[in-house]
Amino acid sequence: MEIYIDGHFYPQEEAKVSVFDHGYLYGDGVFEGIRAYNGRVFKLTEHLDRLYQSAKSIMMEIPISWKEMEAAVLEAVRRNNLHDAYVRIVVSRGVGDLGLDPTKCHRPTVVVIAAKIVLYPEELYSKGLRVVTVGTRRNHPEALNPRIKSTNYLNNIIAKAEALHLGYQEVLMLNGEGYVVEGTGDNIFLVQDGKLITPPPHVGILKGITRQTVIDLAAERGIPTLQEVITRHDVFNAQECFMTGTAAEIIPVVEVDGRLIGDGMPGAVTKKLITDYRELTKVSGTPVYPQAEMAG
Ligand code: PMP
Repeated sequence: MEIYIDGHFYPQEEAKVSVFDHGYLYGDGVFEGIRAYNGRVFKLTEHLDRLYQSAKSIMMEIPISWKEMEAAVLEAVRRNNLHDAYVRIVVSRGVGDLGLDPTKCHRPTVVVIAAKIVLYPEELYSKGLRVVTVGTRRNHPEALNPRIKSTNYLNNIIAKAEALHLGYQEVLMLNGEGYVVEGTGDNIFLVQDGKLITPPPHVGILKGITRQTVIDLAAERGIPTLQEVITRHDVFNAQECFMTGTAAEIIPVVEVDGRLIGDGMPGAVTKKLITDYRELTKVSGTPVYPQAEMAG
């Protein structure tokens, strides 16, 4: 595997960053997780836009342009000869001293890793996930806004550790007021009376790119999406429930805190969206191998 760091590609064993990088010392940085399917990078523009927005919000200037970043992603996939890939961009604050001061870090470090992804087992897509809520609440937007895709995931990691400790793989996170917000790495949707319902960004969620893709796909099928504040009660009584994310795509949720959702099986609307989403990923995206594209 060859990994991009600050303009150069290195073999995996030599792909190293400094222990003085504030990304390592303080979790000070931003990132993106992107998928490529069939030689095309899915929703690359949306991911790059969100990366630059996250950086702006933490007052960090990414040292390369949007176009250079796009080229680095495509090159990373090409160099590793991948057609289906998971691409991780990490931009950390860079090397500084042992203090917090970000202005002492002179240049953010840019890393692009193109690798394969380990998905949930296919069985979970047909049977659905069982999830729980835990004591740890999602960050308050005025403390560390979940809209920033920062390298500081401790909030979600603690929640996930609590769920794993209880024997569950995923968490339905609540905000400080007890409203349902998102999973540890996924957004949440309910299906109710022919509509989708998903929490609005202001309650404290990452504005997921898969979330938006699902909203668009549903709209094309005549299914409207309401962005509403939801409670655990709404989730327990939903007809269907699913989570969305770049890595998980669309995954049905069939049990929450011991309550079965609907009949405890993935619902018809969820299954249709899974099929539609998979179709879309096969045909759209930025081509990685333009030559093959022209010849093909
Ligand atoms: N919420 C959180 C906390 C996440 O980490 C992710 C994954 N990036 C998502 C939601 C889903 O976002 P996306 O669809 O853009 O991958």
